[in-house]
Amino acid sequence: MREFLYELHLHTKEGSGCAVSSAAEMVDKYKASGFDGIFVTDHFFNGNCAVSNEIPWKERVELYCKGYENAKKRGDEIGLKVFFGWEYSYQGSDFLTYGLDKEWLMEHPEIMDMGIKQYCDFIHQNGGFIIHAHPFRERNYIEKMTLVPRCVDAVEGFNGGHLPQFEECNSRAVWYGNSYHLPIVAGTDNHSAEGEITGGIAAKAPIKECADLLDLIRYGDYRLYWKGEIIPVPTK
Ligand SMILES: [Zn+2]
Ligand SMILES: [Zn+2]
Repeated sequence: MREFLYELHLHTKEGSGCAVSSAAEMVDKYKASGFDGIFVTDHFFNGNCAVSNEIPWKERVELYCKGYENAKKRGDEIGLKVFFGWEYSYQGSDFLTYGLDKEWLMEHPEIMDMGIKQYCDFIHQNGGFIIHAHPFRERNYIEKMTLVPRCVDAVEGFNGGHLPQFEECNSRAVWYGNSYHLPIVAGTDNHSAEGEITGGIAAKAPIKECADLLDLIRYGDYRLYWKGEIIPVPTK
C-alpha cells in the first residue's frame, strides 16, 4: 500500500535569511519528488529570519508568512498540501512549532519575550504543538544545548542539515528522544530546492489538517522517510 510523504522542516527565501529557493520552487521540487505535502517552518524573528525586526509586529508577521502563503498558492495549483509552522529559536536551540496560524501570531507578540518553558506551555495552552529540531546540533553560533524533554511533543531524531563531521548529532537525538519516550521524527531542514530531500514522515493516510500531524505522532502511526528509504521509527 502506498504511503503519504510529508516534509516537516522546510525554509523559503521569503521567510528565512539563509534559504536560497523560493516557496514556489520548493513546492515544485517536492511535487516532482513524490511528496504529498510540506510544512513550511521558516526561521522566526528570534532566528535567521528574512524579515527585519525593526518594523511593526503585524507588518512583520504579514511579511514573515509570505513563504507559507506563496507555497500554499503554488501547492493548490499543482496538488501539494502545504501547512504552516515556524522555527522558534531560543539561545541557539530551535523549536518547530505547529498548529497555530497567522492570525494567532498577529495577536501574540509576547512570545518573543518568553523563556523556553513558558513559550512551550503557552503554545500548548493555545492548541499548538512542538518538535525539538536537531537538539544536539553543533555549530559555531551555538553556545549551549537547551533540552526541555517535558515541554515538547517530539524530537527530530533525523535532521538533514548537520555538517558531515557532526552526523552523530542524529544518533544522540534518537537516544535522547527514546530515553524520554518522546516520538522521533525526521526532517530535511531544507534550505534549497537544488539539494536532496533527506527526511520526512510516511503516513498511511493523508494529512488533511495540521492537527492530524500531532495525532500521527502521538499514536505512532507513521514511519520515517530518510535518505530515500522508508524506515521504522526507532523506539527504545
Ligand atoms: Zn536556516
Ligand atoms: Zn530549520
